[in-house]
Amino acid sequence: MGEYKILIDKEKCIGCGACSAILPDFFEIEGGKARTKKSEIKENEKQKIKDAVSGCPVNAIKVIKK
Ligand code: SF4
Repeated sequence: MGEYKILIDKEKCIGCGACSAILPDFFEIEGGKARTKKSEIKENEKQKIKDAVSGCPVNAIKVIKK
């Protein structure tokens, strides 16, 4: 059961691939935009996602509490 959700702002995403390079289990690039492979994440995975959030050059990734 996921407690958090990853949101990717497709308008902002430039498809740079940083998120999928950092966390290939969570992100992939499809059609030039990032998408989540796991939309629901657990508390213990949240820290990892923060690396991708801060690594995104256009701040397109957000983690929200469900
Ligand atoms: S790091 Fe940000 S801009 Fe780059 S592919 Fe991922 S969501 Fe898109």
